[in-house]
Amino acid sequence: MKKTPEEIIEEMQQVAHQMVIDDLEENPDMADEYFDCDCCGKSKSLAGSIRYGDYRLCNDCVLLAETGFALGKFTDIQSLMDAMEDSRLEELCQFIKDEEARKKHLDN
Ligand SMILES: [Zn+2]
Repeated sequence: MKKTPEEIIEEMQQVAHQMVIDDLEENPDMADEYFDCDCCGKSKSLAGSIRYGDYRLCNDCVLLAETGFALGKFTDIQSLMDAMEDSRLEELCQFIKDEEARKKHLDN
């Protein structure tokens, strides 16, 4: 059975969140460790970050990357990095934000 994009996003959000929890359980000091994300360029917590080849991505970008892979928007990390340079990633971000907004709306 094929999952809907909404289900995929939800699943990836859980997976990404779990990565942060696992990292902090393994190494609580990580909460205070920061690095410059190769994808968004922001200073982010090491917890939940993942190394893809030559790049280290923050947890937010891992979510984007994994969701993008799962939705077939990207095939590899390089196409994700290339997408950062145009508006494609913004589109994907918007997609996830819309989904989060929709869920918040349902919760209320
Ligand atoms: Zn990032």
